[in-house]
Parts: sequence; structure tokens; C-alpha cells
Amino acid sequence: MSDATLHTEVLVLGGGPGGYTAAFRAADLGKRVTLIERYPVLGGVCLNVGCIPSKALLHMAQLIHEAEEVQDHGLKFGKPEIDIGKIRAWKESVSKSLNTGLAGLAKQRKVTVVQGAGRFTAPNAVEVETPEGVKTITFEQAIIAAGSSPTQIPSFPNDDRRLWNSTDALELKQIPKKLLIVGGGIIGLEMATVYHAFGSEIHVVELMDQIIPGCDKDLVTPLLRRIKKQYKNIWLETRVTAIEPQNDGLKVSFEGKGAPESELFDAVLVAVGRRPNGKLIGAEAVGIAVDEQGFIPVDKQQRTNVPHIFAIGDIVGNPMLAHKATHEGKVAAEVAAGHKAGFDALTIPSVAYTDPEIAWMGLSENQAKQQGIDYDKAVFPWAASGRSLSLGRKEGATKILCDKATGRILGAGMVGPNAGELIAEAVLALEMGADADDIGLTIHPHPTLSETFGFAAEMINGTITDLYVKKG
Ligand code: NAD
Repeated sequence: MSDATLHTEVLVLGGGPGGYTAAFRAADLGKRVTLIERYPVLGGVCLNVGCIPSKALLHMAQLIHEAEEVQDHGLKFGKPEIDIGKIRAWKESVSKSLNTGLAGLAKQRKVTVVQGAGRFTAPNAVEVETPEGVKTITFEQAIIAAGSSPTQIPSFPNDDRRLWNSTDALELKQIPKKLLIVGGGIIGLEMATVYHAFGSEIHVVELMDQIIPGCDKDLVTPLLRRIKKQYKNIWLETRVTAIEPQNDGLKVSFEGKGAPESELFDAVLVAVGRRPNGKLIGAEAVGIAVDEQGFIPVDKQQRTNVPHIFAIGDIVGNPMLAHKATHEGKVAAEVAAGHKAGFDALTIPSVAYTDPEIAWMGLSENQAKQQGIDYDKAVFPWAASGRSLSLGRKEGATKILCDKATGRILGAGMVGPNAGELIAEAVLALEMGADADDIGLTIHPHPTLSETFGFAAEMINGTITDLYVKKG
């Protein structure tokens, strides 16, 4: 076999959270694994230009807001000085320490990492354009974890540096005076949080009648109320019809409720979703089914229509979340190694790391209504939580839905500081088949925000110390 040809038992295409998890698990189960990643570092979008750097910047935003808001309670700081060069370097150092760690973990597990873009050339071969030339890697089994890319709007200019996608926004090259965010989803609102804290005037334009349209409205309302005061405009049921580059900014035209005909912005972030990369890897040419949108359909074992080829993560379907990809990655690796495994998680939690954070899992109230499911509901207002008030915040809420007949938890949602951390308990409760009694009888430490989950469960049962629940 020439230098340009390698053989491996399990080939993993893509080194994001799904791909490296699959590769490491397969190696732990005794397989010889080759992991192909187009970028020089592992970690994919999440670790390098997504979840992790955005959280580093969101932490800065939180500090800025907290320092500002605590003034009302008698603690005064000066105006923050923002050194974007230093912040950028710090953010990059966070990603770097994680991808250095991953490179070490790959080495310890003897996973061969090949850098370059890979494409299928046969049902058992992938060609990789590496910096040293083209390599062919033959395999017994493959796991596709090639992710997704930001959706582009074809009519928008594609070569103007003032028109950003999420990667550009995270580069933090400058703080635009006036920033338009197209798409009031998770990326759009997280980046709005960051740039608002750093001093940009924020305008958001969202197609639907609600920001974060996939989430129940009552959970989104506390966020909307807060950002309405912070941002210059939030235009709902509105679309951008054109963007024209001009010397002094991008001229944006709108159509819809309440928006102006056109306005000039210093930068525009387009965050209208992501598209799967299924059509970019030569999959169809070797017989792997890829649907019109670019998703690769899989079964519960993560197998594609080609039995020795698996697929995981964004490329197999929504929601496009790293924690779904890692879970699927383990399943695919275990099945490839001959174990009995399948994707049988009851829910994939969602978190918007906005301020306040919003997190939800299981059945949403919208879904329960659409599906005609009989449920009991309780909403505990954080205004009655001592811990929340001691943080200077009272807008939060914890909602639980339980099955009317069995009392079992069906879904939960939280809005407030740290909601993203708190939702994990609800996920565990759902996975364990807990009912409102189980949750209410679980002693939660006082005073914590976690208590609000126990309180909401007590409300389902009609008795709670810190609120008066009217008898029905
Ligand atoms: P998204 O689907 O969350 O939001 C896109 C928003 O844009 C939606 O509200 C949609 O209605 C709106 N929209 C679509 N077309 C539009 C148009 N032409 N004009 C105005 N609005 C329009 O997508 P995203 O925020 O781009 O994120 C992409 C993916 O990455 C999602 O799957 C998201 O879940 C994931 N992500 C997750 C996290 C997290 O878990 N915290 C963070 C970032 C991204």
C-alpha cells in the first residue's frame, strides 16, 4: 500500500463533537480508527466557531450587565473599558486549550487524525485533500459526522465584509455602531446579547410572530420584555427584501409589520438557520441516500441505507445541537463495534444562552395542545424565589407539564439566569419516568434556583409553602 493509501477499520468523517466522540468511543471499544477533519484542529464548529467561543463572549456580556445593574443596589463600578483585541485572544485561548486537549486524547487512543476535506469515492473509500496531497483511505465501516453550514440568502451580497455569518460575528473584529441581526433564533439572540453589551445599537428582524419560534411563548416573554428595553428595534413578522452595499454602510430594505422601508447599518449578521452538509461529501455518488435538503436519513442505530455506513449529528436532522451529535456518535460507534445500542433518548434539551437564559425539554405546551394530550401545568414564578431575588432578578419562571392521568412529567421549561444549568434535572426526571411527587419530595438545597423545579412540582399537587394556590 502506498503512502497515499491508508486502511482503517472505522473511518469518521468530521471532527466536531459528534465525530470525535464517535472516534474515541470506537477506539475505546478496540477499533482502529481514522478521523478526518478539514481544519487543522479538532472540535468542529461547536468548539472553534460556535458554542464555546460564544459562551466565552456571553460571560463577558453578563459581567458587564451585572456590574451595571448592581449599581441600583449600592455597588458602583466605573464604565467598562473594552479591549477587543484582548477579549478576542482570551476567547481563542479557551478554544485552543480544548482543541489541544482533544489532540492529546486522540493520540492516547491511537486514533489517526488526517487533516483535509474528505469525499466518498467508493462505498469503502474516501479521498482526502491533505496539505501533503491527495490520500485515499479505505475502510470497513464509516461514520459520517460532517455537520452543517450557515444558511445563506442568495440575493444578499456575498463578498461584503460588513455582512456576517455566525463565524464572522464570533471573530470580534470590530464593534459596529449599528448592527442588524437577521433571524431572532438562538444564534441571532446570543450574538445580540454580546454585541449589545459591547456597545452596539441592536436591531433584530424575525420572520415569524415570535422570537425563538420553537419555544413556548410564555417562556420567551421575560426575555422579550428585557431586550425590548435594551435593543433599538425588534421587528417581528418582517423580512429583509434587499441589502445594498454603500460606502457608509449596508442599505437594508424591509417588508412587514412596523419596519421602515429601508435603513443603513454598519454590519448585518445573518442567522437564519443552518443547512446540512450532506451534498458536499460525495455521498450520493456511492449510493448513500441524501434528501433534497442535504440530510442523510438514518435508523435508530444511526445506519444509513448503506449498512456499513453510519451518520450522526447535524447532517442527519434537527435539532442541530452538539449534545445530540455526541449522543448519536456513541450509538454509531457502539453499533459499529458490534454492541447492541440505539438512539432511545426521550428528549434533547434546548438552551438559549441569552439573558435571561431559556431552556426547555420534553413536550412543549404548544406540542401538548397540538397533539391533544391531557396535561396538568404549573408555573412557579421566580419572583417568589429568595435565591433569584438575591441575584437582583425576578422575571424568571419554571414550568412543568405532567400527564393528567399518571402524573408523570411530560415536559419542562425554565427562563431566568442559569436556566441552562437547571434544565438537566428535568431531563433526568423525564428519563427516569418521575412524577410530580418524586420531584416535589426530592429535597432541593435552599436557597437555590434549583428549588424552583421542586416548587413547580409541588404546585402540580396543589400545595406549596411559598405561594398560595387556589383550590380548583
Ligand atoms: P434558528 O433556527 O434557531 O433561528 C433562525 C431564525 O431565523 C428563526 O427564528 C427563523 O424564523 C428566522 N428566519 C428564517 N429566515 C428568516 C428571514 N429570511 N428573515 C428573518 N428571519 C428569518 O437558527 P440559528 O439561530 O441560525 O442557529 C442555527 C442552529 O444552530 C440551530 O439549530 C440552533 O439550535 C443551533 N444553535 C444552538 C445553540 C445553543 O444550543 N445554544 C446556539 C447556537 C446555535
